[in-house]
Amino acid sequence: MISLQSSKVLGATIKDLIIPAERVAHVQVKNNLEHALLVLTKTGYTAVPVLDAKYKLHGLISITHIMDSILGLERIEFERLEHMVVEEAMNKELASLSISDTVEKGLELLVDHPFVCVLNDENIFEGILTRRTILDRLHTHFINNNKEQDLEI
Ligand code: AMP
Repeated sequence: MISLQSSKVLGATIKDLIIPAERVAHVQVKNNLEHALLVLTKTGYTAVPVLDAKYKLHGLISITHIMDSILGLERIEFERLEHMVVEEAMNKELASLSISDTVEKGLELLVDHPFVCVLNDENIFEGILTRRTILDRLHTHFINNNKEQDLEI
């Protein structure tokens, strides 16, 4: 039986596991929705962080948020895409982690979210922690653990 508490997975820090800010696709609060739709479509990501020029986190934007904000009474009003800005459509209520939080806390948040934004002490965006990263770590750990057990037999 593998104990998560004693494993290297939870022994790692959030800093070791994040995708750093410079490698995270994002949009800015004042970008129009057409630009955000382009970024989401081209990257294939479900949602991306919304930042300002100083890398402060303001929210998350997804294709669902964009579609919902241009939904008229009888049709989707695509012509509104270029006139509306990201901050009008984004989700502002988002869970986030501090760079000093434990990986265990990250794991808990990732149960409900495919990724979580990580902030430093000044609330500046440092990167994201994704489900994929944590699952990859766990997978590697389980494989190594099984190999060690096989060697013991
Ligand atoms: P993954 O766990 O790699 O499938 O990623 C889950 C979600 O995290 C994606 O759908 C995106 O919303 C977000 N994500 C992952 N990697 C990036 C990245 N480099 N830039 C922006 N968002 C990302």
